[in-house]
Amino acid sequence: MSENILTVENVVKTFGKFRALDGASLSIPKGCIFGIIGPNGAGKSTLLRIVTSLAHPDSGHVTVNGIDVEAYPRKALTGTGAIVDSPAFYPDLSARLNLDILSRGHGKKYRARREELAEYTGIASWLDHRVREFSLGMKQRLAITLALLPESHFVILDEPTNGLDPNGIVDIRNLISNLGSDLGATVLVTSHMLGEIEKICSDLAILNHGRIAAQGPMEEILRRSPVTLIRATEPDRAEALLKGTFGPRILSIRRKEDDAAVLRVETETECAAELNETLVKNGFAVSMLENEPDRLERIFLELTGRESGVRNEVQS
Ligand code: ADP
Ligand code: MG
Repeated sequence: MSENILTVENVVKTFGKFRALDGASLSIPKGCIFGIIGPNGAGKSTLLRIVTSLAHPDSGHVTVNGIDVEAYPRKALTGTGAIVDSPAFYPDLSARLNLDILSRGHGKKYRARREELAEYTGIASWLDHRVREFSLGMKQRLAITLALLPESHFVILDEPTNGLDPNGIVDIRNLISNLGSDLGATVLVTSHMLGEIEKICSDLAILNHGRIAAQGPMEEILRRSPVTLIRATEPDRAEALLKGTFGPRILSIRRKEDDAAVLRVETETECAAELNETLVKNGFAVSMLENEPDRLERIFLELTGRESGVRNEVQS
């Protein structure tokens, strides 16, 4: 048995001359909530379609549960529930009938699970309503119910919070966060919204122009070149002292854009406590010292911002 529920190796997928996936590789450990972030058009849905055998790679390999998806799709994907792109429900049929048809479910055991899951996802009292009457948030809950129905231990959700209002986002976020602990599922979720992934996921990969720019546990990725904001007396002298003391461990030091009294210190590794100690020991009064917020956004922009879309074109 593999410790990874999913491995993607060097997957290439072209549409005409366009490389939607350009050698993407990643692996997802069992039991985590794994996020793939990337701007619109990065290749997220294409990757999920290949993982779930709805599309086929030009080259590369995908295994789910250690089984090759191209060679043995049914066997590999048993116990995997996926919603890629927005699911197309039958608007004039009830939610219950939609679940039955789309999951091809039948039997007593299935019906019991359907009712139980509908309770869990919060749509139990809506099962007899036509899907036409559902809000976007309710449709997402229905989609998640559908993904969970085949007793899934691997749940794949493509942009599940897309288009929801803030309340709906919080509800769906909580639902996804609990899937692991409540149902023992590994979850793979995509989003183009960094904040969502940062809040939900234990691990993540950054997909840009069809390539994985970085992946790993959230904490590890967030630890990349951390930025500390410091408000201290005499910022000029404080800056000189930190530069002298930390040398190359400080990658950059400058004033915060909207507050010139605050030092913005980018370091190789997390060292806020050491920065504080150095300043205090040398007689500076430190009135504020904190990690810069929106860390993931900054890391994301650093990893993806400089690249151009041109290299996605296959040379001909
Ligand atoms: P994401 O889900 O990250 O927004 P997609 O995987 O949907 O990105 O798309 C990646 C790129 O591949 C986009 O530029 C898209 O236009 C292109 N693409 C996706 N599917 C097809 C297809 N069936 N035919 C042609 N181009 C496609
Ligand atoms: Mg998509």
